[in-house]
Amino acid sequence: MEKTRVSLLIENVDIFTVDDDYTEYKNGCIAVDGNTIVYVGDMQEGRAGYEGDEVIEGKGYLALPGLINTHTHSAMVLFRGYANDLPLWEWLSEKMWPLEDKIEADDAYWLSLLAMAEMIKAGTTTFSDMYMFMEETARGVDEVGLRAVLARGLQGPDESSDKRLKENRMLWERWEGKAGGRLKVMVGPHAIYTCSSDYLRECIELAKELDTGIHIHISETKGEVTESIEKHGKPPVLYLEELGLFEVPTLAAHCVHLQDEEVDILKDRNVSIAHCPYSNLKLASGFMPAAQFMEKGINVSLGTDSASSNNNLSILKEMQLASILGKAVAKSAQVLPAKEAVKMATINGAKALGWIDEIGSIEVGKRADIILLDTNKTHYRPIDDMTALLVYSGYSSDVDTVIVDGNILMDGRELRTIDLDRVYYEVDRIKERIMK
Ligand SMILES: [Zn+2]
Repeated sequence: MEKTRVSLLIENVDIFTVDDDYTEYKNGCIAVDGNTIVYVGDMQEGRAGYEGDEVIEGKGYLALPGLINTHTHSAMVLFRGYANDLPLWEWLSEKMWPLEDKIEADDAYWLSLLAMAEMIKAGTTTFSDMYMFMEETARGVDEVGLRAVLARGLQGPDESSDKRLKENRMLWERWEGKAGGRLKVMVGPHAIYTCSSDYLRECIELAKELDTGIHIHISETKGEVTESIEKHGKPPVLYLEELGLFEVPTLAAHCVHLQDEEVDILKDRNVSIAHCPYSNLKLASGFMPAAQFMEKGINVSLGTDSASSNNNLSILKEMQLASILGKAVAKSAQVLPAKEAVKMATINGAKALGWIDEIGSIEVGKRADIILLDTNKTHYRPIDDMTALLVYSGYSSDVDTVIVDGNILMDGRELRTIDLDRVYYEVDRIKERIMK
């Protein structure tokens, strides 16, 4: 029988597909043609049917769908290690905002590139970003080869709030579906405490007009909830429901402090929550009861939030913490087992970003966003339940190879599409100028 020629074949590799049945293959094979997965399964059958232009020997590696970071502010890598040990409001208003005013467009490009390098090194293939100068981030995503959902961070009203809305619209016009379909654009109202009711209504209208979703922070701190009740007579989710926000697909970051009635609304409205446990803990915002919300049927994905409140952009780290913290909060070791945690980091993220048809699992017909982890490490021995080992023992530095849309972005931990020395040089210069 004649073999089908494909662009990439990964042989003898263990595979977590994260499909509906969570199918695993020992010594399996993945065939990729162009940007699409055309075969996943048994090695013998794969070798008999396919011949690869490029072949990766996968023995000793574990293939996973690329990890998905559903909430970050990538250019904030500039503030990594700065203004530690402060609660959210002081950290944001006294430390972050004054310095953010000094960031220029070209800075955002290099800072985003540093974030992307870190994310690739930690196995992230898709990220959802909310910040300023998103055109620059889009340009970086296009060049680097990652997949992203970008939203212009919006606050208002003030002298620049109309301009920001225009920038969000322009971002959509220029980048929605671009970079070979690797880019999407959402509308990004920052939060209810930085946007007025009228401004939020404008954001909702824009999202409806563009037929896209909204990415927003909701109920991150107790203070936000108290202020909402004082100002609007109701907690954040009820207030946003009344404004009509959830009529558009919504990605809500945090959701740490919710009343039962609010949880029901999020469920009914199919809102996805970007759970950012590390950032919530570092800023002492609280603990989101992930297991409880997932039992209710809410889609919970993972986010790192920015590198200044985390301080890494590692979804593997969030996955581990989400599982461990989820158990502690629920007072049950049985909740959020390892498989659930892997789903939060992959397929749930794809769902949260409206991208489930194309990414989030290793299945025939989906885009080839695949990572290979080197399992020939002390912390994986003796090898037994690989899912549990990955979630409870793995490190981001185990990620060896990163493939997005069929292209290899990292190989043997060497980045192929980012000149890291140049990025370090530029970021050091930016830091000198802004942080002085
Ligand atoms: Zn955030």
